[in-house]
Amino acid sequence: MLLGYARPYRWVLLLGAVLSLLTGAAGLALPLVARQLIENLSADRAITGALILMSVLVVTNAVLGALGSYVLQRTAESVVLSVRRALASYLLRLRITALDRSEPGDLMARITSDTTLLRAVTTDSLVGFGTGGLTLLATLLMMGIVDLPLLGVTLGVIVLAATVVGVIVPRINKASKQAQESVGLMGAALERVLGALRTVKASGAEHREEQAVHAAAHESWRQSVRAALWSALAGNTAGLSMQVAFITVLGFGGARVATGAIDIGTLVAFLLYVFYLMAPIQQVVAAITQYQVGAAAVARIQEAERLPAEPAFPAAPLPGPGAEPASVTFEDVRFRYAEDLEPVHHGVTFTVPPRGMTAFVGPSGAGKTTVFSLIERFYDPTGGRVLVDGTDVQDWEIPRLRAAIGYVEQDAPVLSGSLRDNLLLGAPDAGEDRLREILETTRLTGLVAQLPLGLDTLVGHRGTKLSGGERQRVAIARALLRRPRLLLLDEATSQLDAVNEAALRDTVAEAARHTTVLVVAHRLSTVTMADRIVVMDAGTVKAVGTHGELVASDSLYAELAATQFLSSVE
Ligand code: ADP
Ligand code: MG
Repeated sequence: MLLGYARPYRWVLLLGAVLSLLTGAAGLALPLVARQLIENLSADRAITGALILMSVLVVTNAVLGALGSYVLQRTAESVVLSVRRALASYLLRLRITALDRSEPGDLMARITSDTTLLRAVTTDSLVGFGTGGLTLLATLLMMGIVDLPLLGVTLGVIVLAATVVGVIVPRINKASKQAQESVGLMGAALERVLGALRTVKASGAEHREEQAVHAAAHESWRQSVRAALWSALAGNTAGLSMQVAFITVLGFGGARVATGAIDIGTLVAFLLYVFYLMAPIQQVVAAITQYQVGAAAVARIQEAERLPAEPAFPAAPLPGPGAEPASVTFEDVRFRYAEDLEPVHHGVTFTVPPRGMTAFVGPSGAGKTTVFSLIERFYDPTGGRVLVDGTDVQDWEIPRLRAAIGYVEQDAPVLSGSLRDNLLLGAPDAGEDRLREILETTRLTGLVAQLPLGLDTLVGHRGTKLSGGERQRVAIARALLRRPRLLLLDEATSQLDAVNEAALRDTVAEAARHTTVLVVAHRLSTVTMADRIVVMDAGTVKAVGTHGELVASDSLYAELAATQFLSSVE
């Protein structure tokens, strides 16, 4: 798992570890040269050679040390970078079903916070485990050479300590995972509030929302403190075990000296090794405990990478001017948003030929927006088929399918950034002339002229600096700029005033002459203009026809016509 992320960097990590070991070796050589220097002094010999050697060693030590720690930290940052990149790309390809089940704030925490934890782990933990483990083995080897029975005693103590640490380690992992989970919860709670701060303020809900954020932050603190406690215990167990080993070796070794099995020099040498063992053992234990924190982060990163995502196809070019309009067919489509939810479509069937305008009408919740979601392949039907140009959307490469479509969502989303960014979002290569032309047809020219920075004015988070009607016109302009072969408008003009609505209606009618237009309609003016009307009710198609036919033949349509949208006729 974690090793998998560090794998591409294994040689650099090894280099860093070797540099660290060399630094240590250079440090160890220093006392020897110092001894030489003093001997030279007392023997009245020249000390220049020793002095130069010492300076070289000191400088080498410093350079190697700096280089080693730079290489290791750089590698750690590279691991974080590559994980962040991979995760960000993956999250952008997530299926909408996965997003329906997740909190964006939590997903964000996984990229920003969890990946950061990998930094310390790659260097400190992996390298610490390597160098510490190596030193540990070497020291044990030396101990074995000095006296095998005493080594046995020492190993006994180590095994005992290892068992205790082994019990503690999973707890560190669990607490770290929960701490990170709480960071995710905090991210989600914050995103929820900041994403709808006006509503929160208007509802006077700041204090309650604040408590949710605080609770998550506190829980993260609590779990981190727990992890710290267990880590401290593990570290101290390691320290304690060495003290115990020292005393045991002293006692047992003393007895062996008394019986004459070993001499006192052997015992002293062995005790020195026990002393030397302390540092690498603590290093290894620290590496193991720290690894748990990283492993918890990795588990959360991998959880996100297991969410269903769309296949990674290359981006598709836009159809371009003069492309043939698309046809759309629904064949007995059945659909539910999730296993545990009621079906939303119970066998929806209709056909839309290329060109012309088709209006979808029906009560709220009938499944009209869902029709568009299925065409865009945000979801897959549970039964039946959705065909675009006679091909099942499942058999389309998703980017090619979406490149053919211009979609104005029901709430006309606008992204933070400039007006220009928003317009060019779906057609980054559109020229300035074309942009001017679309601004004209969507009646945005006046707005742009008014704005202090024109097209470069920033529109705020989710376009809060625009009015609802302006947002809708921006969304329509964005869709038209793509020159779609299929235009989907979901109540796209609901917030426009009468004058703008009439103008946009002409624009849409004009578009319908060379592309296929599907609109979820809410005004009689749109409906009467449509070439065909699909009446939807509770997830089925009740009737298809023109306004004249349906008023006479369909009771639901007649009722809708009389009450819902006909009342808003200008
Ligand atoms: P319409 O656009 O006709 O008003 P929709 O197609 O938006 O209706 O919704 C149809 C039904 O599906 C509604 O009952 C709605 O609650 C439900 N629904 C819509 N989107 C989702 C979703 N993402 N997850 C679960 N249920 C949803
Ligand atoms: Mg809808």
